[in-house]
Amino acid sequence: KNVLGEIIYKGHPSWALMLNIQTGIRNAVGKSMGTEGVNPKTPQQYHTLRKPSEFKRKEDFYVSPKTQRFESAGTAMTNAHSTGAFKFKDYCPNAFRYLRYLFGIDTAEFMVSLCNTLKNGENALRELPTPGKSGSLFFFSHDMKFIIKTIPKDEAKLLRDILPSYLEHIQSNPNSLLPRFFGLYRVKPHSGRQVRFVIMGNLFPTKKKIHERYDLKGSVVGREASVDEKKSDSVTFKDIDFRNRKQKIYLGPGKKQSFIDQIKRDCKLLQSLNIMDYSLLIGIHYPQRENEPPSPSLLRPNLEDSSDFESPSMEQSSNQQRGSGNYDNSGAGRENNTNSSVKENEEIYISAFQQDEGGIKSHGGDAEEHYFLGIIDILMLYSLRKKVEHTYKTLKFGTKQEISSVSPDEYSERFQEFLSTIIE
Ligand code: ATP
Ligand code: CA
Ligand code: CA
Repeated sequence: KNVLGEIIYKGHPSWALMLNIQTGIRNAVGKSMGTEGVNPKTPQQYHTLRKPSEFKRKEDFYVSPKTQRFESAGTAMTNAHSTGAFKFKDYCPNAFRYLRYLFGIDTAEFMVSLCNTLKNGENALRELPTPGKSGSLFFFSHDMKFIIKTIPKDEAKLLRDILPSYLEHIQSNPNSLLPRFFGLYRVKPHSGRQVRFVIMGNLFPTKKKIHERYDLKGSVVGREASVDEKKSDSVTFKDIDFRNRKQKIYLGPGKKQSFIDQIKRDCKLLQSLNIMDYSLLIGIHYPQRENEPPSPSLLRPNLEDSSDFESPSMEQSSNQQRGSGNYDNSGAGRENNTNSSVKENEEIYISAFQQDEGGIKSHGGDAEEHYFLGIIDILMLYSLRKKVEHTYKTLKFGTKQEISSVSPDEYSERFQEFLSTIIE
């Protein structure tokens, strides 16, 4: 298994889905930047993207090789026939565009990162081989900046419902540790199941090896990686493992306090929205382990027959966009990506917890450590969770059991309590 994810080659189970996602995004995002789209340049113009009606808006695309209805599709569409016609929905496009602006993500670069698959399969998306229990699929953009997560209908609905408060929160909390959401979409193939997905920032946007990863909730019940999981290079350790290993996160007194304060504000929002089950995801890179021989799992799979990769090239449509001369001038004061080019004359604010190549270096402790961290999986409502647990318990014990889940308030308290004990 490759910890960086498995490249989606032609014939991969997710091949058709990947092409549909890419074609859909190219059309939807391309359209918003094209001549028909709004092209804000100043912060004031950007601000108009977030008017209340935008939180309700959905935009439909019907992508069919026969009709070829979208100009921006151009020849980049030539591959669509291999997956058949499908519908594509772009949820709250302008609200998300405003969010990307807040996060310092240039819309054109966003599209290139996700859609620019080269002929030889270079730059294809990668699929995370070991996702969570929920059955969601995870894809990475080739440049490691973005993650695509497929989500069920209720989570997509929840994201749309919380979007106004989330946006407000991000606006007033440039150091927020909440997931960075950049877009919400739906692919509906002519035949087959529809798939909703969200595009988020990757918390590990680095080519550096993440030696250890932890998913922490502050609870101990079942919070230990299994024996089998621990054999894998891509194991995600949990609360009990973290404790047993006597691991600490050394931020130093100043950053520790701002971290705790920020977590508190982020949790307060989640609490008010009745959300729970989120975790703090931590990746640790140990610079002193850099000289170890690379593990074989890190090597890229052999792309023997490169003719298998005939996924559409972005070049053409990208040039068309460029011709229209309309580009985002992003930079609302935030910049989160490691290598993102800094836009001219713009003061770009980088989150205090992402200032060291997308992460944060340790301060104190015995040896240098490099952390990458943030809150993930926030789209679970208390009410929805009860349903899941209920079904699970009923299945397992064959009878109705008392549900022992804590409330969002208790969850948040326990989460913060635990984090305060592990940060130094
Ligand atoms: P479950 O509901 O069973 O916990 P899930 O499908 O909702 O699972 P998540 O908890 O969101 O999945 O994430 C599963 C794993 O995917 C994480 O432990 C982490 O390894 C990876 N992951 C998720 N989000 C990110 C992110 N933003 N950046 C990097 N890795 C991520
Ligand atoms: Ca989770
Ligand atoms: Ca989940």
